[in-house]
Amino acid sequence: MQDTDANQVWDVVVVGAGPAGATAARYAALGGARVLLLDKATFPRYKTCGGGIIGQSRHRMNEHALATIEADVPEVGFSHRMGRVTRVRTGAPFVAMVDRERFDQANVDAAKEAGAEFRDGANVRSLADEDGHTRLTLSDGDELLARVVIGADGSGGRVGRHVGVRIERADLGLEVEVPRRPEDATTGVLLDWGPRPGTYAWVFPKEKTLTVGVIERKGYGEQTRSYLDAWIKRLDLHPTEQDRSSGHLTQWRASDSPLRRGTVVLAGETAGLLEPWTREGISFALRSGEWAGIAAAAHTNGDVAALDRYEAQVQAELVPEITVGEKLLRIFTRFPGAFHFLISKTPMGRSYFIRFCRGETTLVRAFRRRWVQVVAGWLQ
Ligand SMILES: Cc1cc2nc3c(=O)[nH]c(=O)nc-3n(C[C@H](O)[C@H](O)[C@H](O)COP(=O)(O)OP(=O)(O)OC[C@H]3O[C@@H](n4cnc5c(N)ncnc54)[C@H](O)[C@@H]3O)c2cc1C
Repeated sequence: MQDTDANQVWDVVVVGAGPAGATAARYAALGGARVLLLDKATFPRYKTCGGGIIGQSRHRMNEHALATIEADVPEVGFSHRMGRVTRVRTGAPFVAMVDRERFDQANVDAAKEAGAEFRDGANVRSLADEDGHTRLTLSDGDELLARVVIGADGSGGRVGRHVGVRIERADLGLEVEVPRRPEDATTGVLLDWGPRPGTYAWVFPKEKTLTVGVIERKGYGEQTRSYLDAWIKRLDLHPTEQDRSSGHLTQWRASDSPLRRGTVVLAGETAGLLEPWTREGISFALRSGEWAGIAAAAHTNGDVAALDRYEAQVQAELVPEITVGEKLLRIFTRFPGAFHFLISKTPMGRSYFIRFCRGETTLVRAFRRRWVQVVAGWLQ
């Protein structure tokens, strides 16, 4: 850190302390940078999210975050339009569950342990270029200078807008968290392919709660709400005023969307890094956060190509997964019944779904298989 006109210049300021930002701050600090991690919320804070952890996420989690895993789930039930449930028992667990309040706090703790400074209740209002640095202005009037800014401020984020992110599509997710009853003890994950194109509903079982939610393209709020109500009724659940009920947007990027403007780089969902079919975003946040943190530290150590390499890595490793996810979403939207049949009733489909969730394969690898290409080409 240096002094410029009596202003502190941070090597790296990270905006947003979700999984992308906290991971970026941790890796930047491990790389030797002086790091400030900011979040507008007061921590610990909740984030509307199923908290489903697939293998790709688990492989990247630090030990604090791993300790927040509440359940390892070995069973999944599929239904289409709330019809009969087809259960698949997988022997070994295929997906883990976390509570986002604890999980996000654990990632922040890991960033602090690595040497990052954390300020919550710090809302970044604007960014401006200034003599090779970025000046960040907070809502309370405070100003900061940074050599590199990592924007990790989630869907609709201000730093994403500053960089000029272009979004392909945004969806609205609605959720309630209800207490887990004795009769839910053996409930695995439940997934319902919904009544309108591209919609689906879930039950994710945690230690003491069930996270029950639905997702649909943004702009159909009433319908999305009634899908959630119908799903809750179908499950014979009775949420009360005390139960947490919330909504949040998810988004994924247009193929030509930028990831960076000068020394302001983006990680996680503010950049639209999310898999469009499942709307799985945690593994994208952890991976992009890690790479952005490493690149930011390298940049501040004089490696002028580091930020270019970050962009190239996201293009090479994450963008193809988004592209395949979009294809799957298109097929699922057009042929939900066929999709349901393939995933829940055919051994190949089930095996791919489970192996994908375990992190044993990726959607990109699965799409390279001849038979998958034939079926996909036929359905698209
Ligand atoms: C209903 C729903 C269910 C989901 N379920 C799953 C799931 O089961 N598994 C999965 O992998 N993904 C799931 N996702 C997606 C996942 O939640 C996101 O992709 C993930 O949280 C993105 O992480 P992030 O760190 O990029 O952003 P976030 O987790 O959104 O964190 C962004 C942070 O930035 C802060 N911030 C925003 N603006 C500012 C500002 N101006 N100044 C300072 N701080 C700011 C916010 O307070 C927030 O803490 C779900 C999403 C939804 C909506």
